[in-house]
Amino acid sequence: MDILIKDALILTQDARRELVRGDILVQDGKIAKVGGSIRAKSEEKIDAKGKLAFPGLVNAHTHIPMSLFRGYAEGMHLHDWLEKKIWPAEAKLKPKHIRAGSMLSILEMVRSGTTCFNDMYVAHMDEMCKAVLETGIRASVGHALFDLVKKTDAKDELKKGTSLAEKWSGKSSLLKISMAPHAPYTCSDGLIRLAKDYARKKNLSFHMHISETRKEVFDSLREKGKRPIEYLDSLGALDSNTVLAHASWVTKRESALVGKAGASISHNPVANLKLATGGICPLHEYLEAGANVALGTDGTASNNCHNMLETMKFAQLMQSHLYWDPLRVSIQNIWDFATINGAKALGFNSGSISPGKEADIVLADLRSPNLCPLHDARNLLFSLHPGNITDAIIAGKPILREGKFVSLDEEKIIVEAQEAADDLVSS
Ligand SMILES: [Zn+2]
Repeated sequence: MDILIKDALILTQDARRELVRGDILVQDGKIAKVGGSIRAKSEEKIDAKGKLAFPGLVNAHTHIPMSLFRGYAEGMHLHDWLEKKIWPAEAKLKPKHIRAGSMLSILEMVRSGTTCFNDMYVAHMDEMCKAVLETGIRASVGHALFDLVKKTDAKDELKKGTSLAEKWSGKSSLLKISMAPHAPYTCSDGLIRLAKDYARKKNLSFHMHISETRKEVFDSLREKGKRPIEYLDSLGALDSNTVLAHASWVTKRESALVGKAGASISHNPVANLKLATGGICPLHEYLEAGANVALGTDGTASNNCHNMLETMKFAQLMQSHLYWDPLRVSIQNIWDFATINGAKALGFNSGSISPGKEADIVLADLRSPNLCPLHDARNLLFSLHPGNITDAIIAGKPILREGKFVSLDEEKIIVEAQEAADDLVSS
């Protein structure tokens, strides 16, 4: 479908980071022309006068079925939260729950300007893949692997990831499958090596939690004699297809290792604050080292939402606070993290509104009290909220138009999610 978007203010995120006024032409799912007045025939014309167009946001780390646990258990220490609430409920997960939670999260993501996400979760991952294709969102999805927790065999555990890849890789340009060993403290070195070898052989992304808490670092030093990222490096698991979630409790030597490998991190500021992990991820050091920095929400049970606009604001404020300097990690840096860097981390040709890129475009209504007055549109980072998002186009297909989903039944998805959540937590 060809779409002509007319008269927008466009935050392009192109190579020159230009802010331009004018039209955007989308042809065959890709962006064909940007800026000025474009005359072209199209099946759909979108009047974007008074609207801001920006590249769809990329949520570089989450667990979307966990939206069913939103608000279920609050005010608890991490260990109690997991043992008494989350793990018993997760033990009851059936395919219908994964579907209901995934569909709910996708609605929430699209409504808040996210058009692509990076996920790992523990069960029935076919349902998440089906939800991606049914809704038309873009995603990288992996089966979370753990062999140390349940003391399973590394090769058996690996199969959960490889069979997902064999079943779904290449099914759609919207969906990539990753290898996703959960964390260095839940996976053996054998499993990490096997997962990375497979990812390398098949050119898949490698997604892993690391250095989220100080305890994890101390345990790693005591048990392995290395800090977590040094350990991962010693296993040969760092390269440009590696995405490390959190990577907050790190030394300069570790951020340098990530940069040298050209690997990516997903910083998840809201989840870090909510789980009281203490440290703040040193993004300036990562940038200095040449690492690719992206942003994520983490799962909804520890956030409690999929609002990347909020995550962007928190990220900038936390970095200003950390360095006593609002310029170390700039507003432009944050837009980069949430768009082009996120796309690069996951290997998608998206994240900017420039010719040749995948047409993942979001529109926000500038005629909203919280977005007025308009000075530099980049600065709207601090006041944009999901209520401002009116339209979302993914791979050239309108998913949300003038605040309404084009083909998804939002009411039904919300009712089904509530039923699935009630079913999970009932004893
Ligand atoms: Zn996570």
